[in-house]
Amino acid sequence: MAARARVPSVVILMYHSVVEDPRLTQNTIGISQSRSDFEAHVKVIAQKFNPVTIEQVTRFAAGDCHLPANSLAVTFDDGFLDKYQVVLPILARHGVPATFYLMVDSVDSGIPPWYCRLNFSVRTTQRIGRADPEYAVLCGMKLGEDRAKVLQIVVNECARKVGKEQAEFVRRLETALDVEPLGPESRLMLRCDEVRELRKLGHTIGGHTLSHPNLSHVSKEQALSEIFGYKRRLEQELGEPVAHFSYPHPALNPQWTPCTLSITREAGFQSAVLTTCGPVRFGDELLAMKRIYAASDLDQCLEPAVHIPGQIGVAGQAPHDRKSGTPGVGRLRDSTFAGWLPANLRFVERF
Ligand SMILES: [Zn+2]
Repeated sequence: MAARARVPSVVILMYHSVVEDPRLTQNTIGISQSRSDFEAHVKVIAQKFNPVTIEQVTRFAAGDCHLPANSLAVTFDDGFLDKYQVVLPILARHGVPATFYLMVDSVDSGIPPWYCRLNFSVRTTQRIGRADPEYAVLCGMKLGEDRAKVLQIVVNECARKVGKEQAEFVRRLETALDVEPLGPESRLMLRCDEVRELRKLGHTIGGHTLSHPNLSHVSKEQALSEIFGYKRRLEQELGEPVAHFSYPHPALNPQWTPCTLSITREAGFQSAVLTTCGPVRFGDELLAMKRIYAASDLDQCLEPAVHIPGQIGVAGQAPHDRKSGTPGVGRLRDSTFAGWLPANLRFVERF
């Protein structure tokens, strides 16, 4: 294989939720990693990498600063409470900064994101498989589908909705499936005072829309309202500008379009990140920076990315959309994000 010129690159690592025992959040968050895995990651990051902030990555990609080799930024999407209870002490112990992208409606209300509610409803209902057509009509599906298929259908449907329409869809499904709604008492989400505390400790707070749709699959007016609406509310809450954004990717592709890119530009963000797998290189578009899913085996998932500057991968699949992910390979099969990361990294070419 021909060698190519080496272009400086850094990595933005992506997490969602870190809990003591991920089996306990399988029916709700569904995408958690274990505290012990995460602590092992952060130890490696502190010892072998150069932890940086998203602001530094942005300046690097813009050509405004150099960063040492193996620079890496840690990010979290969505706003789960475990960021405060579990993640914060670990980050503090190892001196690693992080960026937290928040879904503002859920942080405001305490009501978990819609994909957690759908996950909970479909996984715990007794109705699926019975001759009750109500949920099937609602979801436009055939009777007799298994839970995984039902979940995929309703998640794809809900990813196209925002605000009240989205809330109504979820509520109707919960009613049809005869499931008690997952509400604030589940205490899955960060509260506003905890978000302010994260900020005081020096971490970066970014946005992740109001209601977590796939912005490429809603109208331009809805996308504008999701982006400008959350930015305004978060800035009021924090008393400072919110300059960094993460595109939600609950399901469906693509995750972003020239239209959504122009909205983030209009909103004045300094950076925006994707779920697409790959490193960030000097000269990359600041409003569409790639990230890397944090697999259990951190060395394995980072090693190619931090050394290889070339074109990497294909659009990543959202962790909420497991069923459509490509099967993993090799020893990453057991990782939390197996299905996306290894498939993407297969496109990496070594020098
Ligand atoms: Zn998200």
